[in-house]
Amino acid sequence: MSEVIQLLPDHIANQIAAGEVIQRPASAVKEMLENAIDAGATHIHLIIKDAGKELIQVNDDGKGMSPIDARMCFERHATSKIRTIDDLFEIRTMGFRGEALASIAAVAQVELKTKPKDSEVGTRIVVENSEVQIQEPCSMNQGTHLSVKNLFFNIPARRNFLKSTTTETRHILDEFIRVAMAFPEIAFKFTNNSADIFHLESGKLKLRILSLLGQNLNNKLVPVQEEAGFIQIQGFVASPDAASRTRGNQFFFVNNRFIKSAYLNHAVTQSYQNLIAKDEFPLFVLFLAIDPKRVDINVHPTKQEIKFDEEKMIYAIVHAAVKRALSQYSIAPSLDFSLDANIEHLPSITQPFSKQKQEHTKSDYLFQSFTEKGQAHFLDKKPKIANWQELYQVQQQLNPELTAPETKPEPVFEESFQEEFLQINKAYIIATTKSGCLFINQHLAHERILYERFQRTRLQPLTIQKCLLPVMLEFNAVDTVMLESMLDDLLNLGFEIEKFGQQSFTIQGIPADVKPGKEKETIEQLMESYKHFSSEVKLEKREKLIRLMASQQAIPEGKKLSKAEMQELFQQLLLCEQPSLAPNGKKIMARITSKDIELLIQQS
Ligand code: ADP
Ligand code: MG
Repeated sequence: MSEVIQLLPDHIANQIAAGEVIQRPASAVKEMLENAIDAGATHIHLIIKDAGKELIQVNDDGKGMSPIDARMCFERHATSKIRTIDDLFEIRTMGFRGEALASIAAVAQVELKTKPKDSEVGTRIVVENSEVQIQEPCSMNQGTHLSVKNLFFNIPARRNFLKSTTTETRHILDEFIRVAMAFPEIAFKFTNNSADIFHLESGKLKLRILSLLGQNLNNKLVPVQEEAGFIQIQGFVASPDAASRTRGNQFFFVNNRFIKSAYLNHAVTQSYQNLIAKDEFPLFVLFLAIDPKRVDINVHPTKQEIKFDEEKMIYAIVHAAVKRALSQYSIAPSLDFSLDANIEHLPSITQPFSKQKQEHTKSDYLFQSFTEKGQAHFLDKKPKIANWQELYQVQQQLNPELTAPETKPEPVFEESFQEEFLQINKAYIIATTKSGCLFINQHLAHERILYERFQRTRLQPLTIQKCLLPVMLEFNAVDTVMLESMLDDLLNLGFEIEKFGQQSFTIQGIPADVKPGKEKETIEQLMESYKHFSSEVKLEKREKLIRLMASQQAIPEGKKLSKAEMQELFQQLLLCEQPSLAPNGKKIMARITSKDIELLIQQS
């Protein structure tokens, strides 16, 4: 009997291996762009034809390759990026497996032209089916041009398996956007079937986001910048009104590598709780920088999933960082990009990937908020004034004009708000601050206060005042069922209502702050708006009820307020978890600085 086991020829082994690395044109695009980045390119040009099925070309001005390296790079496990196993835990390049070019060369017709800086001439190599067809000198500038033609030409089954041109182009576009997003300091060009679809100048992250995702996001991007222990997070999240019904614009990068993590997405989405509808997705572009030792990027061949050592802690940090950014943004709209000059120097804007800072900033409030409680997901729900002060201080750091420069930190709250209040048009309250004033919508402010108070009623029901005489309510069959289903929640909210016969109820008690005599009206109105609201908004039953009650009971526009009432309202607002947005996402206040006022005067 003869032996049956044979070693596979190299090109077949490569083709098999290629299946894992190169699944479609977009995978080749990703590998090629990443190689250009690893080579230190400052300009990268991606050219595709027919969704990459005909041509994928990447030209870069990176460090290039010597003639020998140019030949070596197509060998399997040929990499310049790691040498020992220990290097695996220190990876700072995008690639490291040395598989991409070997795989591409196994399944396409490849032409490589490359020249390092100090060589006179470059090298041109043509490879097909893993075999070098031509190697010759060529003339070119420093850098590398790699053309990949007729992908899968030698594996018809795979080629036929590719999706429509539109779908494959979409995949390429996604990869391009992810890579270009992570490296705003690199200029990119993308040419699709001879049409230039992106021409991205090198610049700051914010600019890159706007060019990739749309200029309409201008004024809607909120900077996020936080450092806690071994992890640094920076980037931008968009204000709630930029949320969309699709997940498309959510970008997480870990050490500049795009990752998919439902867990971390959840951390961000949670920070938008009550600011966006349940079926909406917030837009974000966030960069986490973590010591490579603490991340395992090796778990998935296409490297989009990732494992962290301290997943829960990272969740907590991301959540808190976004939450803080959101509240800063809405407390001070001027923190947005009208302040470019002041915030432009911040690392979150200048560099998405800065060096890992390993000192454990134990004093950091974020760090403390989870270590103290010994529980990663627990973050203090009810911010105290101190917390608010902290936010205010951060603003001051960002915008030094807010206060005169002083060496010792000042007690921000008492001093900065001068307890002077003014009402305009019976609708707005002006609170003066040291550097200007806040314009507050009285109705929305009260709505927010009530909303948060009602939210807490699950744990701490509102006090009920007993009615002297029970009030009768009559409903039709449909409304009866509806009210019945609301009785428990209503009881928490201070309405004691009992079923009384087939379709009638009696009100036995009402919340302490509802005016007696208006019980019936209040409940009927509530039911009426509940019906309309129900069909419009997808929210939990209780959440709807709370929002409605808050909006119904909030002081209306047109109500005159005394100084004491304004002060009370203002102080309660500041105690809110989210003092700047009404439950429906509307902004409650605007801040106007003396500078803004002066501008107004000069412009009028
Ligand atoms: P990896 O990126 O994992 O090292 P690749 O197969 O993608 O593996 O590339 C193999 C090697 O070829 C790289 O390590 C690098 O030295 C070299 N190389 C690939 N593309 C370029 C490029 N655009 N410029 C310079 N060198 C490159
Ligand atoms: Mg590579």
